[in-house]
Amino acid sequence: MVPEPRDSLSILIRRLRDAVRGDVRAREEVYDLRGVIRFVGIFSMTVLAPGLLLAWYGIQGIRAEQRAGAAEVAREADVAAESAVSEVGTYFQNFEDATLNRLKSGESLGVRLPELADSLRVVFRFDADGNLAGPFAREEIPPLEDQEMLLFTRQQEAFALFQRKEYQRSANTYAQAMREAHGDRALAAALVGRAGALLALGDIAGADSSYREVLQRYGDLRDIYGFRYGDLARLKMGESLLARNPVAGQSDLQGLVEELIGATWVIGRGGEAAVARRALDLTAPLADAEWLGRTRIRLAERSAALYHAERLLPDMDSLGAKGRLLKLSSGQFSYTRTDQALWAITWTDNDQYILGMDLRTLRARLLLIASRSTGTDADVKVEVADSNGMIGTDVLTRRSLSPWLPGWSMVVRPRYPAALALRQEEQVDRGRGIIMLSVLMIGIGALVSARLLQRELDAAAEKADFAAMVSHELRSPLTQIRVKAEALFLGVVTSEEGRSRDYGIIMRECERLSRMIDNILDFSAIRRGVKKYWIRPGDLALTVIRAVESSQVGMEMAGVEVELELPEDLPAVHHDPEAVAQALTNLLSNAAKYGQDAGWIGVRVWLVDQEVWVEVADRGIGIAPEEQKLIFSQYYRSNDPQARRRKGTGLGLTIVDYIMKAHNGRVSLRSILGSGTTFILHFPVRPPDATVER
Ligand code: ADP
Repeated sequence: MVPEPRDSLSILIRRLRDAVRGDVRAREEVYDLRGVIRFVGIFSMTVLAPGLLLAWYGIQGIRAEQRAGAAEVAREADVAAESAVSEVGTYFQNFEDATLNRLKSGESLGVRLPELADSLRVVFRFDADGNLAGPFAREEIPPLEDQEMLLFTRQQEAFALFQRKEYQRSANTYAQAMREAHGDRALAAALVGRAGALLALGDIAGADSSYREVLQRYGDLRDIYGFRYGDLARLKMGESLLARNPVAGQSDLQGLVEELIGATWVIGRGGEAAVARRALDLTAPLADAEWLGRTRIRLAERSAALYHAERLLPDMDSLGAKGRLLKLSSGQFSYTRTDQALWAITWTDNDQYILGMDLRTLRARLLLIASRSTGTDADVKVEVADSNGMIGTDVLTRRSLSPWLPGWSMVVRPRYPAALALRQEEQVDRGRGIIMLSVLMIGIGALVSARLLQRELDAAAEKADFAAMVSHELRSPLTQIRVKAEALFLGVVTSEEGRSRDYGIIMRECERLSRMIDNILDFSAIRRGVKKYWIRPGDLALTVIRAVESSQVGMEMAGVEVELELPEDLPAVHHDPEAVAQALTNLLSNAAKYGQDAGWIGVRVWLVDQEVWVEVADRGIGIAPEEQKLIFSQYYRSNDPQARRRKGTGLGLTIVDYIMKAHNGRVSLRSILGSGTTFILHFPVRPPDATVER
């Protein structure tokens, strides 16, 4: 259960108070709590905040990059769209200028005019009243009347005779048809037929006069197939003249062709085209090649224009009055769109023109413009979207093609959407990487901080343990001393033997007490870094003898015999006699403590290579191999129950190790569990490199 903040605060205050009063456990707990608070603070400041800040900056950077990338593409799209639309504007401007020039020059616009606009298929001209005035005409051909049907039978009869080469009878039958004829169409047809028969009979003058009559009286009349009788008459006259007078016939027929190409053609009929083609074929053998070629092209264009006019006429009709009534100031254009065509409407003087452009062709042209409005290495591409086109979702920008093509637009899309997406994905991945890295860093930071904190807490716990242990350890010799001293003082012990035993105990406990205090003070000095040794050349054997002597009384009382073995001759060894004596005392007292039952301690000094070894051996409980390294750690006490029974602070060997290191030497051990331990102090014979004082 997590305590309330107020509670935890009051707990902290209580523990602080207890700690000040000297409660070691409370102090430790306070240390724990403060440690956690410190951990949170340090961790936040050194790891969490920088980690988060780093991640935030990284992600901001990527976002900015993303925004910049998007802005770049958007800018490119804008430029492309702008350029495409302006190209289209130029295209239509050129078309308008050229169209007006052509219209003003009075040239026929009945033909397809690729130089105006490749999509321009047909031009309709209207007069001031809004009637179709050219270059096409709408003309209803009245159906055959009964009388005409009669004539038709007679004419067929005459034509059959003509084909059988019975020209005289054919001419007579045509003449009969003329007499029976009812209405202009019948008369004209019979006249033309009879002229043909006369021609075949060689009556050129008769034929000519008939043709002339047709030309004069029925020149503009059309037969039921849409042919003008005048054109048919001129063709026949020209043909016959060509046979008699080639130059004159040629000139007549060529004139006819020119006239027909420039004339108003009737929508839905191909009469003019057919007559002109026939006349052209007749003149071809003698005609100037250049004129012939040019004229054939013009005729073909005119025929194509007629074809388109027929196709687009229903669409134009659907414009209705709207198109025709549109009043524009001279020279301006208005555009309107139908299913098949874009219609450009304009006026010159009194006439109104409607120019029809095929939408499919126009679309192809606009696509070309679109594709040219960006480089091939651009990130975007421009497309044409017509009114039914699907726009889709990946559109970067879109510009309307009004006023030319209402409902149409130029659409800009990414050229390689996958590449764009990939780029964005990469950026997202990088963002994810930064976040993961930050989390990892924060995690590692947390781990390291926690480890450091744990170490501190462990140290604190150790200190608390030590304080508790020391107070307990000090108390037990003191109690012994006090009890025995009191007994002696009060004369409770009467026998001499008992009194001397009590004195012995008091002395031993005093010695133990002073050794403990020595160790504690030394250790605290070492910990604070203020411990100093006076290392100088001296007789190490003498130092050993003195240390053994000073422990002698305690040893004897404990029933331990110390066997000392010294070499004959020993070089001077750099050492601090007091410190070395303390190290030896610690080893001896350990040997006595943990090897008591055997009652023997061996001390040996000898020269090995460049070292002087001081060995302290016992035949006691021994040390388990896995503990042999640990015993030098501060406060470490063996887990062995036999060892645990003996009192101790866990500082003795730590100090020995420290002293030996200060002498540029070391301490080693050999031990067999259950049979004994030998500690060896290794002193280098050469003086230590460091200064004498440490
Ligand atoms: P203390 O003896 O006060 O516990 P030391 O640092 O002197 O502390 O010794 C550390 C531990 O090493 C002892 O607790 C004991 O378990 C073990 N030890 C030291 N000397 C001997 C020895 N001669 N024989 C067996 N065990 C020993």
